[in-house]
Amino acid sequence: MPNSLLYFVGLLLTAVGWRLLVYFNGLHIYRLVYDLENSFETELDFAKLSKNILQKVMKQTKASAGIIYWLDEAQRKFKLKSLQGIPADQLNRITRFWINETGLIEQTLKNNSGILIDNNQVKYPREAGNSVSGHLFSGILAVPLNTRGKTVGILVLFKKDSPFKKRDLKLLNCFASRTAMQLDHSRLYQLAADTALENAKLYINLNKLYHKAILDGLTGLYNRHFLMQRLKEELKKTYRYKQSLSLIFTDIDLFKQVNDQFGHQAGDRLLAEFADLIKKSIREYDMACRFGGEEFIILLPQTDLESALSLAERLREKTAATLFNVNKTKIRITASFGISALQNTDDDLAANPSDHDLTIMVENLLAWADDALYRAKKSGRNKVVIFEKQ
Ligand code: GH3
Ligand code: MG
Ligand code: MG
Repeated sequence: MPNSLLYFVGLLLTAVGWRLLVYFNGLHIYRLVYDLENSFETELDFAKLSKNILQKVMKQTKASAGIIYWLDEAQRKFKLKSLQGIPADQLNRITRFWINETGLIEQTLKNNSGILIDNNQVKYPREAGNSVSGHLFSGILAVPLNTRGKTVGILVLFKKDSPFKKRDLKLLNCFASRTAMQLDHSRLYQLAADTALENAKLYINLNKLYHKAILDGLTGLYNRHFLMQRLKEELKKTYRYKQSLSLIFTDIDLFKQVNDQFGHQAGDRLLAEFADLIKKSIREYDMACRFGGEEFIILLPQTDLESALSLAERLREKTAATLFNVNKTKIRITASFGISALQNTDDDLAANPSDHDLTIMVENLLAWADDALYRAKKSGRNKVVIFEKQ
């Protein structure tokens, strides 16, 4: 074979061999990236995910240590978020020298692509080398983690005995954008979860505050202030839709004697028990309220006098029939009831009452029920009396 032909064949074989080498190297990297990506597809916890990523990447590149820095968007600073292979007591020294003094983060950001440092080629000041003696890495590899059009993190790998290869950089560069996206998703997911948790706590606290503001602490019934507000609103509806509305005013009979005989605390418990008895006897949209001391008001929207009377009568009977707990003994009490009502048959039920009209009517309803209650007391207690206009 002529020399020129041999030369040509040799050239051809070299070119083909080179192409094959590049091809297989590319395939190998592709397979590594594929394996890496698939290994943490489902993890949503940022700490676990970043640890997983570091461990897998370190294994593939034979790195001895690794760090993931993540962007704190509020402070616009990269903060160390995950760490592998660096003992906690050496972390400060190592990051100070290998990250801060080398300006590694700034360099990576400026480059906006992975950088590979072969430490054997870099002349560090002797004292700097000494300050981390025993942890002198042969190579460093840093890649930016880009997503949402910006660098959200930086992955840094350290190798002890030999520098990283170009292949490692290639692998990391291929892998970086998916990693960035996955870590970013888990971070956003965590932020959303934290925010949801904060909102839930806020809601619970607001709810508690709201309940504290509208409920009576001892009995859990609505307080007087809330009743006065609601009474006005309910009256407005009563007028607008020409409905009936009733109000029951009740007061425990001779309650002072309970306090005198069994003490104030026992009296408190009895008040709570009496309130429970009322709660259990009314409908969902009726409103029971502690008006003060041992006096209670039940507001009954869309309820005529007859129904209010039957409820009051039931409550009176139940109260008298119940054995209430006081200091390990059980006692009987009675209560008196006064009822006032606005009937849908009333001639003066204006369609559009002014605020002043409503205020007057609230006062009237309360005064009328109080008057009826007074009569119930006067006529011997344990009675239900309906207010009758003279
Ligand atoms: P009457 O049948 O006329 O209503 O007699 P009474 O003893 O129930 O009424 P009076 O107004 O003379 O006394 C009410 C008592 O209720 C006096 C007060 O100490 C007691 N009281 C008021 N608020 C509370 C409270 O929150 N807890 C307790 N334990 N007692 C209370
Ligand atoms: Mg009383
Ligand atoms: Mg009273």
